[in-house]
Amino acid sequence: MPKSALIFLLVVFQILHAVAAADRGLQSKCRCLYGDPCWPGEKEFAQLATQLSQPLLRPTPPAQPCYTSANSSECAEAIARWNDGDWRTNQTGAMQLSNFETFTFTNGTIEACYLNTTLGVPCGQGSISVIGVDARSISDIQAAVRFAVQHNLRLAVKNTGHDFLGRSDGRGSFMVWTHNLKNITVHPSFMPAGSTSMNESFQDAITLGAGVQWHEAYAAANASGLVLVGGASAGGSVGAAGGWLQGGGHSALSPSFGLGVDNVLEFSVVTSTGSHIVTNAHQHPDLFWALRGGGGGTFGVVASVTYRTRPSFPVIAATLSVSINASTPNTALSQAFTELVRITPQLTDEGWGGYSSFTPSSDSLSFSIIKIIPAISQESATKANATMSAYLEYVQDLAANSTQSSDPLQVQAALTTPIASWYEWYNRFFPPGPSVGVNIEVGSWLMPRDVVQTDHERVAQVLLSIPGFSWYTVAGGAVSNVSVDATGLNPAWRKAAAHVVGGIGWPEGATLEEINALRDELKSSTAKVRALAPESGAYFNEASLYEPNPAHSFFGPHYEKLRAIKTVYDPVDLFIVAEGVASDEWDKSLTCRI
Ligand SMILES: Cc1cc2nc3c(=O)[nH]c(=O)nc-3n(C[C@H](O)[C@H](O)[C@H](O)COP(=O)(O)OP(=O)(O)OC[C@H]3O[C@@H](n4cnc5c(N)ncnc54)[C@H](O)[C@@H]3O)c2cc1C
Repeated sequence: MPKSALIFLLVVFQILHAVAAADRGLQSKCRCLYGDPCWPGEKEFAQLATQLSQPLLRPTPPAQPCYTSANSSECAEAIARWNDGDWRTNQTGAMQLSNFETFTFTNGTIEACYLNTTLGVPCGQGSISVIGVDARSISDIQAAVRFAVQHNLRLAVKNTGHDFLGRSDGRGSFMVWTHNLKNITVHPSFMPAGSTSMNESFQDAITLGAGVQWHEAYAAANASGLVLVGGASAGGSVGAAGGWLQGGGHSALSPSFGLGVDNVLEFSVVTSTGSHIVTNAHQHPDLFWALRGGGGGTFGVVASVTYRTRPSFPVIAATLSVSINASTPNTALSQAFTELVRITPQLTDEGWGGYSSFTPSSDSLSFSIIKIIPAISQESATKANATMSAYLEYVQDLAANSTQSSDPLQVQAALTTPIASWYEWYNRFFPPGPSVGVNIEVGSWLMPRDVVQTDHERVAQVLLSIPGFSWYTVAGGAVSNVSVDATGLNPAWRKAAAHVVGGIGWPEGATLEEINALRDELKSSTAKVRALAPESGAYFNEASLYEPNPAHSFFGPHYEKLRAIKTVYDPVDLFIVAEGVASDEWDKSLTCRI
């Protein structure tokens, strides 16, 4: 038989095999979970292992060494680095927010593996995947995906585990761990695959493997004199090419250069049929559209992403830190925030991006701002600096006028500072430090520009009634200049002036009753913010598990198109995540089709 005929037969066989496996997957209404009779045996896993570049992973809870061997160095390390995001990303069984490692049974019992071993709770696997593939190549991902489809397994795609809705694990699930896909390639010029026009050659671009984290991406870009639009967290442990991007990806640079999804040139992705697709504006443009905002863990496993980059630039940083000796905002603090809300559209139009948060404690309340503007053009930077300086002076005047009151506004810092480069700013303001390893849930709403402009006082008043919320100015400006249908992202982002985030937290060992009481508070505060602009939406990556209408909140008018594209590329619905596209067709545990 000629070689070409043999290859043809092989391809036909592979397609038939994939279709048959897909059919088997569809036949069962429920996913096969660890412990079910349908769960593959050691023989099947051994067979899978022969196709992989690395041994299979058996993820365990990060505190487990403290139960099996309390004096071990592994336990000492877990205690020392429990709140370190980068350490957590290296643990196959760790999520960044420990609550997503736990599992709550219908009778209210919580299975967990608490760091505090004195709570008397035995260490359990909780929601942590039981077995997985340490993907280092496209073929590793393909083998994992085919195995999951063949055995109808619940698949968890896990990168860094930062997801605020726990989408990167799942009780009894099989995991693809993308963490070690660490390749980084800087391109002096980049032409998307399938492009025939030299006009489409981008001067600077960078390709990041799916496991690259922001601190690695920033360092590599900086070494080549480049800057990327990326996220912010202590030590930069969030993934640069996984859920952050596919959910939207906000950055302090977004008002200047758009969101993560506005800066992608190309994806390399493995779909549930096991196909490897390079997608961009020319190849599979529907998938390219959907991957830019349709949510992580939904359309396939992204193996790498190519972003456009920009030559390094100096920045101006703005810092404000004020506090009062009371747990609720007084008049001066309320005025300081209300004025910030009023000028937010102007600030973001001028390119100011960043974060502002209220941090309450029992006897004090602090409010802080960290913002940045690229100082590329002297003229625009001077104008933007004047706007921010006027605001900081306004707050200082409020403080000066409150000195005689019983609760004066105390200013710890109020300044703008020129900094030589964006990278220097990032390292100065987001050094590694304890930030995760806690139990947190959040709620989100995108505040439209027109609502802010029509009644900034009402917006501020409602927000000030919520303890400990954040006002992220990561929308507006360049984000609003992108056409609403250019990407799959929720159009609400294009109309937003700011992203509002609220949260709750609880200690290890809290009962379900205690946690649910806090959840009720979160639901009610998110509802108050939502009521200010019900037609808007929420940020898929920083939202609550209790959005009343997730399809509307996260995808708005793009939902139907995203659902249709998912049917094309994921016909067996292998990729289902909490509140993601098509998740409404599954039960709450995402195990059985409704
Ligand atoms: C401390 C902290 C700081 C944050 N800062 C920011 C910020 O500055 N800006 C911002 O926009 N958001 C921020 N976030 C939210 C962040 O965008 C989400 O947590 C996001 O889900 C993280 O993506 P990940 O891939 O790192 O994490 P993971 O939890 O591993 O994955 C998140 C989701 O993406 C899916 N996924 C991961 N990799 C792939 C892949 N290769 N292919 C397909 N699906 C994949 C997973 O299945 C899961 O559904 C922050 C979160 C935390 C906890």
